[in-house]
Amino acid sequence: MKGKGMDAEQKRGVPPRRPDGLIKRMSGEYESYLCDESRAVGRAESISFPRTELELRYALTRECARGARVTVQGGRTGVSAGAVPNGGHILNLSRMDKILGMRKGEDGEFYVRVQPGVVLSHLQSAVAAKRFDASAWGYASRDALAAFCGTDAYMFAPDPTERTATIGGMAACNASGALCYKYGPTRDHIFALRVMLCDGRSISLRRGECRATGRHMELRTDDGHTLRFDLPTYRMPDIKNAAGFFAREDMDAIDLFIGSDGTLGILFEIELALVKRPAEMWSALCFFGDESDALRFATECRRGMPEGPAAVEYLDGASLALLRAAAAEDGRLRVPEMPARRAAAVCVELHGARENDALEQLFYVGECLDRTRGDIRDTWVARGSAAAANLRDLRHAVPLSVNRLIARRKRANPAINKLAADMAVPDGFLHASLMMYRSATAETGPDCAIWGHIGNNHLHVNLLPRNGADFDRGKALLAEWARRVTEMGGTISAEHGVGKLKREALKIMYGDRHILEMAALKRVFDPDGRLGAGTMLPVRMFSPSGAGVYIP
Ligand SMILES: Cc1cc2nc3c(=O)[nH]c(=O)nc-3n(C[C@H](O)[C@H](O)[C@H](O)COP(=O)(O)OP(=O)(O)OC[C@H]3O[C@@H](n4cnc5c(N)ncnc54)[C@H](O)[C@@H]3O)c2cc1C
Repeated sequence: MKGKGMDAEQKRGVPPRRPDGLIKRMSGEYESYLCDESRAVGRAESISFPRTELELRYALTRECARGARVTVQGGRTGVSAGAVPNGGHILNLSRMDKILGMRKGEDGEFYVRVQPGVVLSHLQSAVAAKRFDASAWGYASRDALAAFCGTDAYMFAPDPTERTATIGGMAACNASGALCYKYGPTRDHIFALRVMLCDGRSISLRRGECRATGRHMELRTDDGHTLRFDLPTYRMPDIKNAAGFFAREDMDAIDLFIGSDGTLGILFEIELALVKRPAEMWSALCFFGDESDALRFATECRRGMPEGPAAVEYLDGASLALLRAAAAEDGRLRVPEMPARRAAAVCVELHGARENDALEQLFYVGECLDRTRGDIRDTWVARGSAAAANLRDLRHAVPLSVNRLIARRKRANPAINKLAADMAVPDGFLHASLMMYRSATAETGPDCAIWGHIGNNHLHVNLLPRNGADFDRGKALLAEWARRVTEMGGTISAEHGVGKLKREALKIMYGDRHILEMAALKRVFDPDGRLGAGTMLPVRMFSPSGAGVYIP
């Protein structure tokens, strides 16, 4: 990707041609593009669906030049309203959906280069089946594909479970999901990026080639300009984290754009590392009569399992009830009869190169159950990747049904949006954080369902408001939890990103001084705050002249 800059015509100073009909006025036809899975609804005057770099540059520069705000969208599966437009133009990248090529690295591993609108499920199936549309690929990519077809099975590991997410959206949010316990978040799998700035210039980055010096960074655009700036000075918690810009000493420049939530530039070409697919993928869903036993079990599993689990996921009693209700509603969702003891469940995914590896891990699960008042008879075991994927799908049905429930309640009361905590805490604070959620909601509500990535001390607390009063109380609770989780050394967002819904929580986490530093950083790339207006940072921090206005 290195060295590719502007299109040849642009380098010669020829303005981009107007792609006919690219920019469309908003109308009823595009109404669904005003929201994402948070169910928040925005507004916009126009929308475009570019297919190429040239079209993208045309739409972006034209809209920015006329002073419009621009909101980038991928699959709109985000739950923090990052893709919800705040006026102006919607730049929807779902048609930039080509897998552009492949290479075999010097490390012997394989890398695929994609446009941002490639949908996760499409990439996953192409990699699993080793079947790609290579008709437009060059010789080097075709050679790499031939080598790829003659070798082991591979996979793209990050899986935020919602497989209609796009790779651009996943990179922009640094999405994670269950398997990141073993394989890490999307960030760890991005090797190269091309980013387009508001003025149409692009930056091409390869991991390892451009680093900050301390907290100072210098970046060269593809047309040869150097951008010099300082990174925010906050210390990010050393846990799974997707809150705010990635900033640390001597960091790789590529990491600044990963997780930037559509606010610094548009990620328009992404190179991803593939990993070898383990031959055995099993999982065990273990039920418990008591929530604290489930917590102890999860902790035990993390501690001594040979090779470590691939994922440790949690479902509380309310989540299990939602799952049963979803199965009753949707005949395609096959949920086996659950044991009577179902106050909580923990799903442990076990990956190994051989059957014996998976069996050994399963024995370890049995030992952990014995130590934590679990019972192997209250456990569903999925042997093989199809069965394990099935259990993952069942777990995914829980957030899906919560999102549907919120959508139904919103119809009766439009003020209601998704109200969910995506907070993670350091080791040693898991129990305290769960107790905090429980004690706050037990007596006065609202109802809640708690599930998520307990392996990373990361629980999703989804509040289920029935009315406006519930919603207001839920919002106050989220602010209070943000304060307490920050005191524990945790993060207010471990994987969903801040978007527009967790801005206040971000301020609680980092404080006014660091929010000002973030705004200064954004101005380097986007002086007037046009990109992703209202995401992460308040709109009022960006005056039309580019001078920062901030009222703490
Ligand atoms: C039922 C359900 C379960 C989920 N579970 C998980 C989970 O377990 N883990 C997890 O991490 N996430 C989860 N998610 C959230 C979601 O799938 C991810 O955040 C996803 O990565 C967003 O991708 P998208 O293409 O839908 O992006 P969008 O929602 O369209 O956009 C998300 C953000 O990225 C920006 N953006 C999008 N594309 C680009 C681009 N090319 N360049 C720059 N900015 C861009 C947008 O402006 C926005 O700020 C879940 C969602 C649902 C609905």
